[in-house]
Amino acid sequence: MHSTFERGRPMYPSKEDIKTTFTEAYENGLEFTKDGAVADYIPELSKADPNAFGIYMMSGDGDSISIGDTETRFTIQSISKVINLAISLKYRGFRDTFSHVMMEPSGDAFNSILKLDTRSNLPFNPMINAGAIQTVSLLADDFSFEEMLGFARDFCIDPDITLDEDVYRSESKTGDRNRAISYLLKSKDVLQSDPERTIDLYFKMCSLSVTAKSLAGLGIIIANSGMNPFNGKHLIAPDYVRTIRSIMFTCGMYDFSGEYGVRVGVPSKSGVGGGLCCAAKGPNVKEGHPVPMGIGLYGPALDQFGNSIASVKAMEHISHRLRMHVFDYRPFD
Ligand code: GLN
Repeated sequence: MHSTFERGRPMYPSKEDIKTTFTEAYENGLEFTKDGAVADYIPELSKADPNAFGIYMMSGDGDSISIGDTETRFTIQSISKVINLAISLKYRGFRDTFSHVMMEPSGDAFNSILKLDTRSNLPFNPMINAGAIQTVSLLADDFSFEEMLGFARDFCIDPDITLDEDVYRSESKTGDRNRAISYLLKSKDVLQSDPERTIDLYFKMCSLSVTAKSLAGLGIIIANSGMNPFNGKHLIAPDYVRTIRSIMFTCGMYDFSGEYGVRVGVPSKSGVGGGLCCAAKGPNVKEGHPVPMGIGLYGPALDQFGNSIASVKAMEHISHRLRMHVFDYRPFD
């Protein structure tokens, strides 16, 4: 089925076209949940319903679309890496942050320790575990968990985010690999705080309970260059947000980032809890500017890379239909 906006008028997709596109994406994505598997290396995560799937769209002009499981709470996991990076950029600045962590895609799994020991002293980027642990170490002496939680609530436009104590305990008990990364960074004398304090804050940030809607909130703040479009509050400077979007684009989907960049081409970050946060230049233009769009997805069945299998398929559809790939230069005609 072709949407009306693909040929002739109207110049930009109508609200109805956008709604149809999201409904199709949901239906397409749902088909794939059976091909994925829920993460179980953090035992508590294995309790998620593998068939769950939801998409929430928040547009800068106040529109929203909610389909499927958008109210279910699940843990943010790696998507907290975006928030950690944002806080570091905001409070420590660009130079300081990137003198402690690099900005190169690693091409390795998110929890890999390999290149850290053989090729480099600094972690490759803030979107993999080593880089996020290092980023958290830049913050752990200055911010309490409660303060970090406050930032997360602002960035996700969701005052109801809390710590999921069960997931936190489960990960803390089984997270030896991440603890090893923290100590390896300490042994190289690059970690900026105490390794136990750092890893505890890292685990807590991964265990924040969010919904697809909260991830759409984070997406719209990033798509809207750091400003909450609903209350006009500036959370972080636009230059820092450009950096965050670039790093999400190049590194946000683990070792699938390259292929995702080609197929979807929207700055995104996934987590093993099944969440996906996307910050899109929306398909429509108002007064010469694209209307930003945040898309949050939840589907705990994961693919081999640890990305939500249904969410990736749905985003492929949405990006293609609404021409949201950042390198799609064709105008609507
Ligand atoms: N808490 C998870 C971990 O450190 C986060 C990883 C992820 O979402 N990819 O293993």
